[in-house]
Amino acid sequence: MWDNLSLKEVVEYANDPYPSIRKWAKDSGKRVVGSTIADVPEEVIHAFGLLPVSLIGTQKPLKKAPSRLPDNACSLARSNLELVMSYEGDLFDGFVLPQVCDTTQHLSDIWRITFPDKYVESFLAPRQAGRPSARYWVKEEIERLIASLSKWTDKTLTDQDLKESVRIHNENKVLLKEIYGIKRTNPAAITNKEMFALIKLSMQVDKAEINKSLKNIRDSLNPEKKTDGYTDVILVGITCDPPEVYDLFDEVKINIAGDTLVTGTRYLQGVVPDNGTPVDSLTERHFKRGFYSPIHDDVYKNFNEVKALYTATNAKAIIYVHIEFCESEEYDLPDLKKMIRKEGIPMHVVDTEYQTTSLSHVRTRLQAFFESLRGGSL
Ligand code: SF4
Repeated sequence: MWDNLSLKEVVEYANDPYPSIRKWAKDSGKRVVGSTIADVPEEVIHAFGLLPVSLIGTQKPLKKAPSRLPDNACSLARSNLELVMSYEGDLFDGFVLPQVCDTTQHLSDIWRITFPDKYVESFLAPRQAGRPSARYWVKEEIERLIASLSKWTDKTLTDQDLKESVRIHNENKVLLKEIYGIKRTNPAAITNKEMFALIKLSMQVDKAEINKSLKNIRDSLNPEKKTDGYTDVILVGITCDPPEVYDLFDEVKINIAGDTLVTGTRYLQGVVPDNGTPVDSLTERHFKRGFYSPIHDDVYKNFNEVKALYTATNAKAIIYVHIEFCESEEYDLPDLKKMIRKEGIPMHVVDTEYQTTSLSHVRTRLQAFFESLRGGSL
């Protein structure tokens, strides 16, 4: 199904992966478990013979979700609930929902009530990851998830099952990193839209299959350095949707040379170290990922990581993708803006909403920003 895809097909599948997931689940007889982002250890779900699928919203119209959520719930939360309530509910046998912010904390109860016939489990990631107790907490949560899935599937997990799952997931991230590396040196080899579609689709489909496509795609790309006409930027935020936003970047020859997205580099940072028991290694991985708006306890971490990435990639500007009504980003953004501007670094904020039907205002502002940047007036 996903083992011999061209880049064009990857973009198509990433736009709407659900028909292919539905067919794959029917053919394989496997059950499908959805998770909202972020930090659910998908390797654990996979090791039970289930298909973990990251839920990353829908652009289809909101019909039912607004009746269950306050008006100021973020666009991603509304869109994910709508995706399951109105469009793809039949596909999922269960959900593992992380509680990372106030919105997701309330949402997991709403999902439980809304889908009483499905398996619904929560995953409580510690928000203050720097505390000494955080490691103990994450390990306990992973073990609690294993016990819960074991009960639901009536299967006992072995270390070997989990190690094999970790191997497949690690391979996926390493392949994506290699492709991203080629994109950095030769932006003409793969567009921004294609690159982030590869990551998004990898978060939603069977890794063993898509890894085969990734190998073919990696081997077909020209890795020679060739950056003429492109402007390197870094992309900061949680997600970047709708995917047409990447078209706008591609139109003005922006090369995303680095990012902090959960649907980008933060996913690739999830390679599990190969030491200790698999549960210990998965626990360790949790603390190796980069900044994520709702989970941190160092107010300077966001700024320090963004600045380090900007410097390391030799980028010319920062683009911040703000999801409408994301409370975590709304706390972070004013401070980040102030600190970045103090450094004299050009920064542009793109406001996004999953149900956007027109991006003309985003295009106009982005073009104006880049004309000023190239003219040196920022
Ligand atoms: S972190 Fe932001 S985007 Fe994610 S669920 Fe919470 S409020 Fe929504």
